[in-house]
Amino acid sequence: MRRLLVYSMVAIGLAASGCASVVEMTDEAEIEVHAMLLNENCDVLQPILDGLEVPEEGLAVFWTGQAGFAIKTHSGSLVLIDPHLSFSMRRATYFYEQPILDPAVVTPDLVFCTHDHIDHTDPDTLVPLAEHSPETVFVGPPESASHMKRLGIAEERIVEMLIGDSKQWAEIDVRTVYADCTDTRFTTHLGYIITVGSITLYHTGDTSRFIERYREKLEPIRGLRPDVMLVPVNKGYNNPGLETAIELTRIAEPRIVVPMHIECVHENTVDPQPFLDAVQKMSGTESIRLKNGQGALLRRD
Ligand SMILES: [Zn+2]
Repeated sequence: MRRLLVYSMVAIGLAASGCASVVEMTDEAEIEVHAMLLNENCDVLQPILDGLEVPEEGLAVFWTGQAGFAIKTHSGSLVLIDPHLSFSMRRATYFYEQPILDPAVVTPDLVFCTHDHIDHTDPDTLVPLAEHSPETVFVGPPESASHMKRLGIAEERIVEMLIGDSKQWAEIDVRTVYADCTDTRFTTHLGYIITVGSITLYHTGDTSRFIERYREKLEPIRGLRPDVMLVPVNKGYNNPGLETAIELTRIAEPRIVVPMHIECVHENTVDPQPFLDAVQKMSGTESIRLKNGQGALLRRD
């Protein structure tokens, strides 16, 4: 019998307000999940990240827009995935007037890029971030790593990863898995499985909607049962769209899934509601609908 797992979430703003429970479920009577929202009001994220104390066996996961997330650990490490904290998609119309984090202020320990597209390996984010935060290490597939070097980031700060690699930084374990190229020109796409203590997060990266052509490459995530899975539901540029996002969720069987890569630019967004409705019919998986800047604090007791 599996041990009882409990996620506790607390609502945290600048002044911690009451708890807003967004997920409460019992899975096969053995797993109980309570989820509450972080930064309910979508305030500027930096002071919230700075002030947040993540409990032991906990992990805070904030959406920073598009496919970007900020992850804070119990020991205070900060990880960014695909930070897009700029308006580098020049022809697009953004949902917001300011990115939720300032790349010239934030000091992550690690930055992971899933692939070399402008909203995932974003020059207008990476350059100010690298200049301001000299200790940050940048991780990505070969094309992202080359791009980082061309941007002037020192080679010793860049770590290249290929599909199937594993690496560890302090308490952060990282494994890369297959993501299918969404482009007509080949660019390595990665998914990241990040484990901190007993909590596992799976960021699928952008992966194509043509799941039949790569289904067998998804074996490493079949039944992975991550605590949280972050999946794009948009369909622009061959991204999964609702149907493939649902199928990926069925394959990975996460405890919690968060739809993303929406509500950044008006030209490439969808209503995630049909995805959330489909997840509701899945047993053992719940969804959390985040707004840009909101997060979730996972804790396993
Ligand atoms: Zn993308």
